[in-house]
Amino acid sequence: MTDALLASLRSGLGPDHVLTDGDLGAYLNDWRGRWKGRALAVVRPANTQQVAEVLRACHEAGVPVVPQGGNTGLVGGGVPDDSGRQILLSLQRLRQVRSVDPDNLTMTVDAGCVLSQAQQAAADQGLLLPLSLAAEGSCTIGGNLATNAGGTQVLRYGNARELCLGLEVVTPDGRIWTDLAGLRKDNTGYCLRHLYIGSEGTLGVITAATLRLYPQPAARVTALASCDTLTQALTLLNLARAHAHDALTAFEVMNTLSLKLVARHFPALASPLPDSPWTVLLELSDGEGSAHAAFTLERILEQALEKGTATDAVVAQSLTQSRVLWHMRESISLAQSQEGLNLKHDISVPISAMASFVERTDAELAAALPGARMVTFGHLGDGNLHYNVQAPEGIDASRFLIDAEDTANRIVYDAVARHGGSISAEHGIGQLKREELALRKAPVALDLMRTLKSALDPKGLMNPGRLL
Ligand code: FAD
Ligand code: ZN
Repeated sequence: MTDALLASLRSGLGPDHVLTDGDLGAYLNDWRGRWKGRALAVVRPANTQQVAEVLRACHEAGVPVVPQGGNTGLVGGGVPDDSGRQILLSLQRLRQVRSVDPDNLTMTVDAGCVLSQAQQAAADQGLLLPLSLAAEGSCTIGGNLATNAGGTQVLRYGNARELCLGLEVVTPDGRIWTDLAGLRKDNTGYCLRHLYIGSEGTLGVITAATLRLYPQPAARVTALASCDTLTQALTLLNLARAHAHDALTAFEVMNTLSLKLVARHFPALASPLPDSPWTVLLELSDGEGSAHAAFTLERILEQALEKGTATDAVVAQSLTQSRVLWHMRESISLAQSQEGLNLKHDISVPISAMASFVERTDAELAAALPGARMVTFGHLGDGNLHYNVQAPEGIDASRFLIDAEDTANRIVYDAVARHGGSISAEHGIGQLKREELALRKAPVALDLMRTLKSALDPKGLMNPGRLL
């Protein structure tokens, strides 16, 4: 049966694009090095028709399919399990920018298009695709939509869901549904694209998307500020909002250890400010120009320093300096992985509850896991923190993961629940948080989700064991 399936895939895609041996680690192992899978084959269709052929054949043979884009996901959703019975379907060959429509302020791209490539295609037309995350050099638009990615510009432009106006999807039985007109208004019943956005490959395969674009800002200015407490960082956020309104496009926080790890592993990216409990990276995107942007930002920082909200601040004086500050922020995950595996908690709580959440949960973790190092950073303006727990200095990280994971997760996710938050703000559920989701999501919501899953994927072949 599987031989017949592989033969039919080979004849459809060509033998070079149905891989069963050789070094397939880049497809089968995840970015964090937490999950190592095996696959019946890695298949690499070249276009939507070929994706449909693959799904049709797998549907007939009853073989499960795991879609994969850039394989940068952090929850183990895009790699196969270790049964060796699943097909890994890579979208990486579907990488065309199909069109940019400057009057409609949209672009239509293949799902395997790398995010930075899509950003560049928009920029070439003087337009902005605002989705931006540290993995943008490898993650794909399909993966971004399947996980409803967030990133660093959500504060102003929303997450991937808000930037998507249409999708092309292949259903588990191989039918193609296309809705790529780029309409901002279309009230003709259920909005199907919203079902597929955030579905993590469990309902079908996204093969293309129409994305919302914006005019490029005339200028961007970036600054760092030091704050003694998270409450002060929130005061600074409110101050920045009051002065800059919509021009405030990013507001990120990093605790001391986050930046120490960056300095340890990437010395060229050490913070220009002295150590402080919290460092804020904020950015304004301005419609008027750099002088206006710098003036607004300096006024915000002056007031913050005067009132004692911030203890120190520095404004990037050039695009290069601004890039270095962003590079520092975006290198935290990589610096952390250089220290070994860690416990990642991508959580959200209402912004007003953030300071209390961190203070209390830090204290509980310190009591339960003495010496555990908190690497806390993220998108304060969105109420989203990467609240990560690293092994104590000198303790084997893999051992710590085994010993501490249940305790840390219980403390963190109980605190999230008490503060009215979510156990996954932007990375999704994958296999990492599937059991946690089953415990913590409202039973009616889970029931509705399972009903949708069985209606759209009755054979249960799309990315089984992930999400639900
Ligand atoms: P993959 O990892 O290949 O897949 C992710 C999930 O989507 C899997 O469940 C997979 O089955 C499914 N999938 C992929 N393509 C398709 C498709 N075409 N159709 C259907 N299902 C599909 N995420 C954020 O949200 N914000 C961040 O700030 C952020 N920062 C990161 C920083 C680093 C250094 C790294 C490594 C990751 C970061 N991530 C972040 C996580 C990750 O980059 C995002 O989840 C990204 O959207 C995944 O895209 P991908 O193409 O790599 O998807
Ligand atoms: Zn993030």
